[in-house]
Amino acid sequence: MTGRALITEVQNTWCPGCGNFTIQHTLKTILAEREATGRSLDDVVLVSGIGCHAKIADYLNINSFYTLHGRTIPVATGIKLANPDLAVICCCGDGDCYAEGLDHLIFAAKRNIDITVIVHNNRVYGLTTGQYTPTSPLGFRGKSTPLGTAEFPLNPVELMLASGATYIARGYTKKMDQLKTLIRGGIDHPGFSFIDVLQICATFFPAADYYTPRVYEPGDHDPSRFDLACALARKWDYNADARIALGVFYRTTFPSFNERLGTPKKSPKEREQGIRDLLASRI
Ligand code: SF4
Repeated sequence: MTGRALITEVQNTWCPGCGNFTIQHTLKTILAEREATGRSLDDVVLVSGIGCHAKIADYLNINSFYTLHGRTIPVATGIKLANPDLAVICCCGDGDCYAEGLDHLIFAAKRNIDITVIVHNNRVYGLTTGQYTPTSPLGFRGKSTPLGTAEFPLNPVELMLASGATYIARGYTKKMDQLKTLIRGGIDHPGFSFIDVLQICATFFPAADYYTPRVYEPGDHDPSRFDLACALARKWDYNADARIALGVFYRTTFPSFNERLGTPKKSPKEREQGIRDLLASRI
């Protein structure tokens, strides 16, 4: 199928100004460009979790799996192991994958599963109307923390460096061109790719006035240097005058989990027959 309409007719219920629109548009553009170069979109699978971000599986017209809270990554892992020819893209929320599904994130990075994880990191539980998440800033006042949080936020880039991810980037929904480059780079990367996206939640954490003057692209950063990536990751918003780096922090190549398992190549026909045999053996 070519030239398909990439946006479905499902009614979009994201709030006006939500950064999820930027991520959706960015993915749509990347998919359209992929199709224009003759690569079938039937080879792409989108997996989403639970949260505002997850509705992207309803809105983008590609193969998708709308899974349980925190379980995007194990589902994506299973898909990739069963069919290594697929490009598997996970859209997760920060509550979804830095809280409920944190262990899955760490182990997917450690194993270098060849999937792309895009975290819609709005630093708040938006769907449930404003509770704090693992990345909410210190002092964040929300429904569950009316006096402000008393804990520092998780630093996802640092966590992924420690876990062994082979492509680690941070984007921002007010920098769409750069975001497109980062996500496309992640999809093309052979191994586990991770893009933490500072996503504006227009309703419960409208942080654009905070981020926009602080974000920058370090022109002299060498993403092949692990030590430099670690130093850059530490420059996070632990204090009021911090600047926030965007771009690829770290990139390296290492055999993926599928490669190390030595999963034999199968044609679509052989795969289909394998599924038939499996189902028949269960009856
Ligand atoms: Fe977007 Fe926030 Fe509205 Fe959810 S609550 S749709 S994240 S603006």
